[in-house]
Order: sequence, then structure tokens, then C-alpha cells
Amino acid sequence: MTGNRTLTMIKPEAVKKNFTGPILNKIAEAGFHIVAMKMTRLSKAQAEAFYAVHKGKDFYENLTDFMSSGPIVAAILEKENAIETYRKLIGSTDPKDAEEGTIRKLFAESKSYNAVHGSDSDENARIESDFFFSETERYS
Ligand code: GDP
Repeated sequence: MTGNRTLTMIKPEAVKKNFTGPILNKIAEAGFHIVAMKMTRLSKAQAEAFYAVHKGKDFYENLTDFMSSGPIVAAILEKENAIETYRKLIGSTDPKDAEEGTIRKLFAESKSYNAVHGSDSDENARIESDFFFSETERYS
């Protein structure tokens, strides 16, 4: 059985360009319920911890520099089959390959600056949600 929660981040370049509102609107239109949400800024060490799975890859240094370069918006989203449904809504990692109407197609600049994060499994959704939110910060 698949879970009904995923973790998203609106990444620094999208927050800076004032795309937070339009992206949250797409999320709402798609029928996701917001369980938790905060605007925050990751330290370099926190960005490294969040993306530890990519440690050693050629883009890791740039990715963690970028993700700690300015504020982000993190949120737990709820909907049936959340992981798959949300990944479909955001589109491919590289906006060049993303389908029309997806969040990355509409709001992302490039593969490095791709507007949003979405968890890729139920287990990672749990780990990533715990990274940002305590139990008392969640409202279901
Ligand atoms: P996602 O699940 O679609 O976000 O993709 P991944 O989990 O594979 O990668 C995490 C993030 O690292 C992506 O959202 C991109 O910002 C970045 N990234 C992944 N692969 C590449 C790459 O080949 N080049 C660059 N520049 N960035 C990448």
C-alpha cells in the first residue's frame, strides 16, 4: 500500500522570484491538503544532510550551495497516492523534459534550479518530513 503524504520544498530561486504563491496554487488546485508548512533557510550542513544520498556526485557541491543560498518553503502535503501524484504534478528533474503544465515546466530555470523538491518514496517522505517538522507542527 502506498502512503498519502509527501514532502515538498519550494527551492531558493523560485522563492526569490515570488513563485511561492503560484506554486502553492497549483498544489491546491491539484487537491493536496497542506498538513504542515514553513519558510526557513537551510545551513550548508543541513543542505548536505538533506541531500546526503547524492554525496560524491558531481553536482552535490553546487546543489548544497544553492539549497543553502536563500529561504525555502517546506511543506508536508496529503493526498491519496501522494508520492506518485506529486511527482507527476512537478514533472521531470530537468524542466526541459517536463510535461506542459507541470510545476517545473512552468516555474523552473534548469536542472540545477528546478523550483521544487518532491519525495521519491514513502520512506523518504517520512525521513524528510521529520527533518523539518515536529509532531506539534503538523495539522491534519
Ligand atoms: P528529483 O527527485 O527530481 O529532485 O531529482 P534527484 O533526487 O535525482 O536530485 C536531487 C536534485 O539534485 C535535483 O532536483 C536537482 O536539483 C539536482 N540534480 C540532480 N541531478 C542533477 C544533474 O545531473 N545535474 C545537476 N546540475 N543537478 C542535478
